[in-house]
Amino acid sequence: MKTKIVTIGKADSQERIEEKLADAGDIIRQGGLVAFPTETVYGLGGDALNPESSRKIYAAKGRPSDNPLIIHIADMAYLNRIVREIPDQARKLADAFWPGPLTMIFRKAEIVPHQTTGGLDTVAVRMPSHPLARLFIQKAGGYVAAPSANLSGKPSPTLAKYVVQDMDGRIDMIIDAEGVEIGLESTIVDVTSDVPVILRPGYITQQMLSRVVGEIDMDVTIYDDSSTQAPKAPGMKYRHYAPKGELVVVVGRPQKVVRYINEQAAMHEAEGKRTGIIGTQEMLAEYHAFSIKNAGSRNDANTVARQLYTFLREFDDENVSYIYAESFAETFADKGFGQAVMNRLLKAAGHKVVHV
Ligand code: AMP
Ligand code: MG
Repeated sequence: MKTKIVTIGKADSQERIEEKLADAGDIIRQGGLVAFPTETVYGLGGDALNPESSRKIYAAKGRPSDNPLIIHIADMAYLNRIVREIPDQARKLADAFWPGPLTMIFRKAEIVPHQTTGGLDTVAVRMPSHPLARLFIQKAGGYVAAPSANLSGKPSPTLAKYVVQDMDGRIDMIIDAEGVEIGLESTIVDVTSDVPVILRPGYITQQMLSRVVGEIDMDVTIYDDSSTQAPKAPGMKYRHYAPKGELVVVVGRPQKVVRYINEQAAMHEAEGKRTGIIGTQEMLAEYHAFSIKNAGSRNDANTVARQLYTFLREFDDENVSYIYAESFAETFADKGFGQAVMNRLLKAAGHKVVHV
């Protein structure tokens, strides 16, 4: 299949943008697949109400088909048709955080095919805030099912070049545009129970959610990897992307962390093994290794969130054998978002943590 790559940028007039997105929307209506930017990561979109489109999404990604997709909508008026009911709590959360990086789980309406929900009777819905994503969803008929636009086993793409790397030849169109600002997948909240439950942490934190709905739980499997309970977000059970190199998260006082990482790096590099480091801006000048990634200031979780997946892909391309990352849990002023970053980092590290 020939994949059309469409760039949308500042030079495009509103009219031209509408034309390009109308073409993209037509592809979705005809049962094809289009990768598009959202504020979290790039999505791989298909018609959510067409079971054949969902089947194609799984095939393009090489993803197991029991891993449910998120339906993206552009307008609150479209929610009714795909869910059995809209609980009060969900309405409040939508008022507060939609459009934005929040996905909610509802009981699904008949019209939503089981192919889209991975066989579940619930459905995940999100209204993204990225303006091009919204316009694209409208042009596509209103319901775009989309997982992240990476091959299964790769990090979610935050840059169009990684979408091209993974999806060229496998889908009909890739929309390349700016505005993928957050870099981590959406927060997922199950609103089918009396007390909403966070199934996946993200930019919208527990604290932000609880300011709106009061009590809110967190699925135990998010922070306790030793839990034998099955995660309620089915996708969470799949092994997450791990870089080719061995990734270890190092926890401790900053100077001790730097000393430990430098010692390890010197040892590996003496053996001819490339070593990579993900460190905060404040510590960066003190590190010595083949590849050093700047995670931004320790007061700001946003920079590392935006770049984490890119760092992991770059380490692979650089053939790095060992990777050390500072722990960001205690570092950031924004503890909630720091927790989401750590959730992804620890998954990539297979929960290998060293305390120094
Ligand atoms: P993504 O990883 O961003 O492609 O989002 C898909 C993820 O959303 C899945 O892997 C699940 O973890 C979660 N999800 C989607 N639908 C449901 C659902 N009905 N119930 C629980 N989790 C869901
Ligand atoms: Mg994904």
